[in-house]
Amino acid sequence: MCLLCNKVLGNDDMKPSKLQDHLRRYHPDKTEKDLKYFQTLKDKFQKRPTLDRMFASTSQRNDDGLRASYNISLLIAKTAYYRREVNFASR
Ligand SMILES: [Zn+2]
Repeated sequence: MCLLCNKVLGNDDMKPSKLQDHLRRYHPDKTEKDLKYFQTLKDKFQKRPTLDRMFASTSQRNDDGLRASYNISLLIAKTAYYRREVNFASR
């Protein structure tokens, strides 16, 4: 994929000569940019929020919520059990 125009390139287009051709043809203003410019582009691309990552962080939060509600339910059940035992013992 081209990081400048997000165009999906085929395997054939990934050859250095084809990539240079794409750069010259579609991004003539970027031909003089140095390697650091493209590495920054790549870093930004890799750190961009994706749908997968958004869902991953959401489900992580859901897991935390689920765990919290499980712990609360467990506490309620234990308390109820304890009260029943105390009531039973005091009869
Ligand atoms: Zn491009």
